[in-house]
Amino acid sequence: MRKLETSLPGRETQDGAGVRLTRIFGQTLQQRLDPFLMLDYFRTDDPNDFIRGFPEHPHRGFETLTILLQGRMRHRDNRGHEGVIETGGAQWMLAGKGIIHSEMPEQDQGQLEGFQLWINLPSEEKMTDPRYQDLSTGDIPEIQMDRIRVRVIMGQFQEIKGPIQRPRTEPVVLDIILPQGERLTLPIEKRQRAALFITLGDLRVGDSLLPHRHLGVLSDDEEWVEIEALSDSRFLLIAGTPLREPIASYGPFVMNSPEEIHTAISDYQSGKFDR
Ligand code: FE
Repeated sequence: MRKLETSLPGRETQDGAGVRLTRIFGQTLQQRLDPFLMLDYFRTDDPNDFIRGFPEHPHRGFETLTILLQGRMRHRDNRGHEGVIETGGAQWMLAGKGIIHSEMPEQDQGQLEGFQLWINLPSEEKMTDPRYQDLSTGDIPEIQMDRIRVRVIMGQFQEIKGPIQRPRTEPVVLDIILPQGERLTLPIEKRQRAALFITLGDLRVGDSLLPHRHLGVLSDDEEWVEIEALSDSRFLLIAGTPLREPIASYGPFVMNSPEEIHTAISDYQSGKFDR
């Protein structure tokens, strides 16, 4: 069984045009949690915390997965794609060689809650054409086992495949509701790195306690993890196959070398992301 290797509280920060969020992890865990680069969590019912959103900004060299548990968010990009992510929905975006987009909350009241996960691309895919997939609640398969509910957003759980499958990094992203006292044994491929983040409740992971709003990094090299809910819980489980490639990152650009970062900056400044 995998063990809880580390548990870390997120760091409160701001991004975009002053959106308050929790950076669950960023650069410091990029090697340990390869292929994952970053995970942000936002949850607030104060419009001042989110209303200014994430105006126009670029990305190159990785994928993003935005999951909305509550609220509405509209995204628009420089290639004419536009869509709305609604409560329970998600959006997968492959930034590839470059995209400029905005992500703006579509509400001025109520709760906004969700995640954004950054997943690295293998070097041969970093300069491919950008792609999107918008997912509504109905596109995300949900497995109900008595009181336990598992939503499969990426990858596979048991026999159920989620709407997004990726080669190489093979990401698995599960949104799990585990009521108090319930136990779940989750399979994780031996080659994969894995972590979980609790948005509600407290869990026992293996023999250790993982508190509310903490990231739990799981030990490697075992095929299962056993989780028990100490109170009514909801958590996100992520697992992926490491790329083991050099990472050079600068803000919204994630490449393999500093030279490629310089190229990304000059391509963006000279308008090449628009072509
Ligand atoms: Fe973005």
